[in-house]
Amino acid sequence: MTGRADLHLHTRCSDGSYEPRELVRLAHDLGFTVIAVTDHDTMSGVDDAAEEGVALGVRVIAGVELSTIDADMDTHILGLFVDHRNPALVQLTERAASERRERLVRMRKMLKDLGLDLSAEDVASDMEGGTVGRVHVAEALVKHGMTGSISEAFIRYLGRNRPAYVAKWSPVPEECCRVIHEAGGVAVFAHPGDVVDEQKIERMADAGCRAIEAYYPTYSKGLTETYVKIAQKLGIGVSGGSDCHGSRKGRVFIGSITLPMEHVDDLEKRRGPARVER
Ligand code: AMP
Ligand code: ZN
Ligand code: FE
Ligand code: FE
Repeated sequence: MTGRADLHLHTRCSDGSYEPRELVRLAHDLGFTVIAVTDHDTMSGVDDAAEEGVALGVRVIAGVELSTIDADMDTHILGLFVDHRNPALVQLTERAASERRERLVRMRKMLKDLGLDLSAEDVASDMEGGTVGRVHVAEALVKHGMTGSISEAFIRYLGRNRPAYVAKWSPVPEECCRVIHEAGGVAVFAHPGDVVDEQKIERMADAGCRAIEAYYPTYSKGLTETYVKIAQKLGIGVSGGSDCHGSRKGRVFIGSITLPMEHVDDLEKRRGPARVER
């Protein structure tokens, strides 16, 4: 395969700012030939994106970004090349999405106790079938003049150990990986960190991750090379993407990462329930 790839992109189905079709058009304009749509805990944007991809000649890989806990830390696993209709994966994402909605109710209550009253509509998901999270709460706080900016909302209220923080329900890493592979995908340890933690990478690989995200906007060339070497040592694959949330993360990251196509081809070979020998 030739061309340009980005395997980590969000849409308005979670906390990105582009609708799925809009994202594909933008990717096409930037010269991308392969992209993965990887919203948090939902695959509801995949069909629209795939349809637009067919029209424009962009290969759209069905994906999802699942949250899990490792060593008490929120840790993300991407499922790439999944069958987005696989019942077990759909069930897992629906549970996570419904837990997110309940978490929002608790967050709203905690904010209300702090004198910040947000309605259910204020923090609803953007799209039908989409997921909600702290970014939606932060935006509602900004919109109502309760905080000056999204980052301020996280610093004052929504960040970990802040007064309106509520931990998310999450499946364990092994469960995320198992379900992703049963759905024909490949599980990737997402954004392994600005600081290398080899033990964590080994734990995630042992839990079932078959690749790490070595190409990421905040990673230097040297850091990416280090992650590629670690992947080789562990016998796992390499992924990469911009984790673009549109304008919702301050900077639009799409276009800042091009994953070499050889890695896309290699990842695809690692798909599915059959365990690849490491
Ligand atoms: P949630 O999954 O609801 O816990 O929200 C996590 C998402 O919030 C991440 O994927 C980021 O997109 C966003 N996020 C986390 N920390 C910050 C921050 N300090 N400023 C802006 N966005 C953030
Ligand atoms: Zn996000
Ligand atoms: Fe993430
Ligand atoms: Fe992401």
